[in-house]
Amino acid sequence: MPLDAESIRRILQLEARKGYHDSAVVGGLDRLLETWSAQNSDAGAAPSTSPKVRTTPPECYSSLDQDGRARFIAAFLDLLDRGAQARSPVPSRARSEPVLTELAKRALAGQSTPRVIAKPGRRPPQSAASPSGIDSSITTIKGISTNLAARFHRLGVRTVRDLLYFFPRRHLDYSQRKSISMLAEGKEETIVANVWEARVTNVGRRRSTEAIVGDDTGNIRVVWFNNPWVAKSLKANTRVVISGRVALFRGQHVFESPEWELDEAETIHVGRLVPLYHLTQGLSPRHTRKLIKSAVDTWAGSLLDFLPADTRSRRGLLELPDAVSQAHFPEDLAAKDRARIRLAFDELFLLQMGVLSKKRAWQEGQSGAALVMDKAARDVLGRFADSLPFRLTSAQEKSLREILADLSKPIPMSRLLQGDVGSGKTVVATAALLVTVANGFQAAFMAPTEILSEQHFATLKQLLSRSGTCVADDDWSCSYSGLLPHPVTVALLTGDMNASARRELRKRIEEGEVDIVVGTHAIIQKEVEFHRLGMAVVDEQHRFGVSQRSALRQKGSNPHILVMTATPIPRTLALTLYGDLDLSVIDQLPAGRQVIKTKWLKPEQRDSAYAFIKREVAKGRQAFVICPLVEESEAIQAKAAVAEYERLSSEVFPDLKLGLVHGRMSAADKDDVMHRFRNAQLDILVATPVIEVGIDVPNATVMMVESADRFGLSQLHQFRGRVGRGTAQSYCMLLADNPSEIGSQRLDIIERVYDGFKLAEEDLNLRGPGEFFGTRQSGLPDLRMAKLSDVAILEAARSEATAIFKDDPRLVRPEHAALARQLARVWPESAEWS
Ligand code: ADP
Ligand code: MG
Repeated sequence: MPLDAESIRRILQLEARKGYHDSAVVGGLDRLLETWSAQNSDAGAAPSTSPKVRTTPPECYSSLDQDGRARFIAAFLDLLDRGAQARSPVPSRARSEPVLTELAKRALAGQSTPRVIAKPGRRPPQSAASPSGIDSSITTIKGISTNLAARFHRLGVRTVRDLLYFFPRRHLDYSQRKSISMLAEGKEETIVANVWEARVTNVGRRRSTEAIVGDDTGNIRVVWFNNPWVAKSLKANTRVVISGRVALFRGQHVFESPEWELDEAETIHVGRLVPLYHLTQGLSPRHTRKLIKSAVDTWAGSLLDFLPADTRSRRGLLELPDAVSQAHFPEDLAAKDRARIRLAFDELFLLQMGVLSKKRAWQEGQSGAALVMDKAARDVLGRFADSLPFRLTSAQEKSLREILADLSKPIPMSRLLQGDVGSGKTVVATAALLVTVANGFQAAFMAPTEILSEQHFATLKQLLSRSGTCVADDDWSCSYSGLLPHPVTVALLTGDMNASARRELRKRIEEGEVDIVVGTHAIIQKEVEFHRLGMAVVDEQHRFGVSQRSALRQKGSNPHILVMTATPIPRTLALTLYGDLDLSVIDQLPAGRQVIKTKWLKPEQRDSAYAFIKREVAKGRQAFVICPLVEESEAIQAKAAVAEYERLSSEVFPDLKLGLVHGRMSAADKDDVMHRFRNAQLDILVATPVIEVGIDVPNATVMMVESADRFGLSQLHQFRGRVGRGTAQSYCMLLADNPSEIGSQRLDIIERVYDGFKLAEEDLNLRGPGEFFGTRQSGLPDLRMAKLSDVAILEAARSEATAIFKDDPRLVRPEHAALARQLARVWPESAEWS
């Protein structure tokens, strides 16, 4: 019987599914492939050789180890797919025996196969990027129509590979079978029983199924409400597996709408660890589970394991196909755990490889400018330090030394400056800005929001006016003499400037007239051209991810970059997530900082909270009130803030002076309100959560946060950091009407933990790193399996990645070919590996 490519494919898939024991076909794969290739060379132009006299080549399938076999099959399937796409049943070059051997060799070497097809004079391959096999649409999977595929698209699942990586959100443990007499009410239990009878009944108005099933120890009633269809499948005397919660009805045990399945060879929905998936309209749990089971069975075997074999064995990791199947349908809890470990390892490992390579690309790309500590730089630093009303803490000094050392090298700096709220990062950054300007370069100082960049602008002006003299001042810029031989000009570039002022300022930046430009991240992403950008400071790292850093690098000038964050991260994690950055930590607060008394108030304590604010204001202090978080939409949030402001002004504090800031106000209006608050012309500032970071008003002593349960710990810590900046005892009051469980946990923690590092750890434990860092937005690959508690995995992944990177940074070795392809997949925007 002539073999077509389709039969070969099915056999190869079966072989993969059976675990590569060369058991898919009688006589072994080698013989089959020889026969097939002989057949095809008969059909082609190449002279035929009799398969009988052919000796098996040394690189035949049967002589390979498990690993080699997996790669062989994956490469072969890939080849078949490409052949199918070229509308030829068999890849043309695969028609003669010697080429088949060559194919096998290349497959083994991990080389991509299309090159084999693309020999001169042959039909060119479709395109190296055209999807094949596992990367084709999920409609390839039996039972998935375009209609159904559209529903999966909503869950982000487009290709077969996506579906394999669409892991369950959790598993129900239906693995322990019980006999009926042993069932316990209220517990999730599984039984295997005989169906005595099953019929359609009416429960109220709903047509339902009622069945009586039994085993050696007794009988039990089972009801499926609103579901008359089950009755059809439960023929009398069939065996059924039932998993679900045992309820009590009129003193009798009953299963109500449990999961069920006929007792066949392998069950999917019952009697095991049963996966639960995120669903969307039109996808039922049973149907989804069934489709995924069949996809996993058919395709997991064709996932090419991209981890080098020695890494895998050194770390005792499952093979990829195995890990993926076990993550969906684990044999037992231990298998599920091992699967998660392998997949979490992958995520962290790939993340680490990616950031390491970015760092290398940045630092190799172009050389940066060395900013030296010459006389001008030393003088300006000295004058600046002398002008401060305090001495730098030793942690600040150490960080500054590290930064200056980086700046003095011709390699562009990539440094993360970590320090808790109020630890004094801005002062350190300002010193670095001045050194940049002393070297004749421009510097950029960026913040995540308009309000914050305005605040930074004000802070910079205030700091510089201590050691310099303001010689020119308009709305958007200010020049100081006395710092350097030439005046130092600081400017604020915001989206709220009118068009002509903006054009004018951009021109001045382009011509190099402005030395320090303050603004939101937009200043590097949009139209602005710098004359000679030497350094960029980025405040609040976790909103400014890897991709933005890349954008900044690509501005041509390759500036030194300093990113600052008040969200401290445990060191190992920082090294992985920010592996492209070197780390400086300010782990010390200036002397004399107070503990801000923090209290989570019950809803009925709201009035006494207001009374407390009145007493503080009577003492000459000021307060913040953060409005309830309504929605992510700025417009809706602004409306809610206006309403809250009006309510507080008229009903609660009619005798006090209130101000309001929200994201929809013009910069001028915001600035005006902030200005009046800073000058104590306002008693209470009502604000949307936009004031989260950075605002510095030493006379404010009360921070009241509404719907506090809806903020993350680091955000709450930031709010709290807005007070206690002066000498008076300060307070943080948290209100939550009806907190969720996790919300309550957070409030509990923030009440007793004051240390930002400890809080960050607690936060990571609650949320997991993916959500914590918003990896999606920040351009990092998604973390679905990795957790913070995986410190051991994190360290293993980091050390393996570092070793491979050191050894073969461009992944040119054949054993790293699959890894290179996987990296191109998870870091799509980077051309590094493609
Ligand atoms: P961060 O940006 O790290 O939250 P800031 O740089 O805004 O902190 O500093 C917070 C406040 O502490 C500012 O008012 C700043 O002037 C002040 N400050 C900074 N360094 C010191 C220091 N070494 N001693 C006392 N006060 C300091
Ligand atoms: Mg700050």
